[in-house]
Amino acid sequence: MQTLGGFPAPASRRVSSARHNATRSWCRSAANEASAWLRPAGASRRAAATGVWVLHWPVGHVGRGFAGRTGGGGAAAGRALVPWRIAPRVYCLGPSGRAGTNVFFVRSATSWTLVDTGWASDADRIERAAAALLGGDTRPDAILLTHCHPDHSGAAERLARDWDCPVHLPAEEVPIAIGDFAAMVADAGPLDRWVVLPMLRALGRRRREAVLARSRLDCSLRAFRPGTDVPGMPGWECVPTPGHTRGHVSYSRPADGVLITGDAVVTLRVNSPAGLLLSREGISGPPWYTTWDRRLARESVARLADLEPSVLACGHGTPMTGPDTAEALRALAERLGGH
Ligand SMILES: [Zn+2]
Repeated sequence: MQTLGGFPAPASRRVSSARHNATRSWCRSAANEASAWLRPAGASRRAAATGVWVLHWPVGHVGRGFAGRTGGGGAAAGRALVPWRIAPRVYCLGPSGRAGTNVFFVRSATSWTLVDTGWASDADRIERAAAALLGGDTRPDAILLTHCHPDHSGAAERLARDWDCPVHLPAEEVPIAIGDFAAMVADAGPLDRWVVLPMLRALGRRRREAVLARSRLDCSLRAFRPGTDVPGMPGWECVPTPGHTRGHVSYSRPADGVLITGDAVVTLRVNSPAGLLLSREGISGPPWYTTWDRRLARESVARLADLEPSVLACGHGTPMTGPDTAEALRALAERLGGH
């Protein structure tokens, strides 16, 4: 895999009790995802009284960086703070944190659009990055989401309010965005079934609805259907890539093969404990523990491979480019057997 700008692979490190740490890392990432679902944006300690606190403890590490990458100084640290150019008019903020989360700034002739918003705690960092890249009082035409998971839509509410702009998302993601519990049950991935839903059910109906109401997106939501023009991004197309979530989409710019994939494909080894622990780069299917329908997800990887991208800008991991990009994605699709 060729990465942009010579981003160094994480230095190999001696890790004592590596297996134990890897398992703990996987659990933290999983619990992180669970807690973000359950923790309303800006929640106070009052939420702890609901019993949700059990899952709060791992949240702190997200956004603080990862030794040797965002927290370790050097070019990697700079990239976590300042958007860097990955293609004409496309800038990446990230990878950030152990999950290597990315958001993307896409410029047009007259304005710009933010694609995905990271975790709720990323709002300040994204606003500072936008100001550094585009000027102090800049605001986008729109925020676009690939899907409604807390590491992609977490800061949407705050940013939409601060920037006074709409949030566009695929129509099938709206029920999750507005905190519809029945939709969460219908679209549950393994982590939801094992952890999130049991916790929510344990709260009882009234407290559950209060938690979901606090975490819902109340901002100016605008639903769109894949196949239509991409709002705020002329020259881009919306590619349906269901599987990780029911309404997941990717964004493609056919003119030069730039592909923003959300979690349909990632360039971090999210499906191995060691990969998560060491933030190992590598093309991968979506994290299976938070994926709703694996068969659809595999088919979506194949659909993206058919586009033969020249730049792969994923929700997690360093964006990938170069002549081997399309081939690497093709090989992944064949490994996963989605054709
Ligand atoms: Zn994600």
